[in-house]
Amino acid sequence: AKAEGRGEIRFFEAEMDRMLHDRRALQADLALSVSRNELQLFYQPQSRISGEIIGFEALLRWDHLRRGFVPPNTFIPLAEETGLINEIGEWVLREACREAASWRKPLQIAINLSPLQLRQGDFVSLVHSVLLENNLAPDRLVLEITEGALMDDYSRAVSILRRVKALGVRIAMDDFGTGYSSLSYLQSFPFDKIKIDQTFISNLDRNAQSAAIVRAVLALGHNLDLITVAEGVETPEQLTILRNDGCNEIQGYLIGRPQPIEEYAAIVGRSTGK
Ligand code: C2E
Ligand code: CA
Ligand code: CA
Ligand code: CA
Repeated sequence: AKAEGRGEIRFFEAEMDRMLHDRRALQADLALSVSRNELQLFYQPQSRISGEIIGFEALLRWDHLRRGFVPPNTFIPLAEETGLINEIGEWVLREACREAASWRKPLQIAINLSPLQLRQGDFVSLVHSVLLENNLAPDRLVLEITEGALMDDYSRAVSILRRVKALGVRIAMDDFGTGYSSLSYLQSFPFDKIKIDQTFISNLDRNAQSAAIVRAVLALGHNLDLITVAEGVETPEQLTILRNDGCNEIQGYLIGRPQPIEEYAAIVGRSTGK
């Protein structure tokens, strides 16, 4: 049995080595793709509860020649590990703002922030200069940030987000309800919107508990003067419940999937060809 045990340990060590090796290989491929400017942004519409589209969320896409499509939930943590996320995040900010500035309709553009970007010394001036360079009105930009992202260095994050907000940029708390300290965050951070996580929305029409949580979050949002957004809305039944409960905005496959902006050219008023 002892020999068998040692064999298992060796097996696990080999397995760990392989996983580490795979991760490093993926990180190397990502770095190469970033340097070749091969990442892409897809855009998903965000609408008022009435259905009127008021903006888009930019979502990263990495389509690797050999690996195929690698989901952001896989490669963003890797980029955070190597620090490459700063370069990627800056590119997302620049690209999304440049794109939005070219639209004839003054719709909002939401981007996702990694916590590491807030630690970049010059994040506030970066946002400021990107807005100026593109002549984009600050209130068209929405920064989406998860509460987990704020946990690391609380007071520093508060101060940076307040300064960004002072530029006129809007701030949304992403994935609301999935973290631990949502309620205290709502008090300290200058949020304009809360996005209710899609896990609650997907169970909305099937599970009384999810429905109760969503209703409570919507009431909380209204009382705190925050815009409430439901994520991952897929069915008309979900939409009806959200409308009855007073949700302000929705996003999800029911309204539109994340796609290249060309697919939404008519909505944003985009002239064809870049
Ligand atoms: P997120 O910010 O919560 O984005 C919403 C995710 O839900 C997206 O997944 C979107 O494609 C998906 N989704 C939207 N509507 C529906 C729906 O009706 N049903 C279902 N089942 N899913 C829906 P995606 O694009 O795979 O992105 C995953 C996560 O990766 C994002 O979650 C965000 O945390 C992160 N991410 C994406 N782009 C960026 C980026 O530019 N920077 C950073 N830091 N993170 C990003
Ligand atoms: Ca988001
Ligand atoms: Ca989310
Ligand atoms: Ca998420």
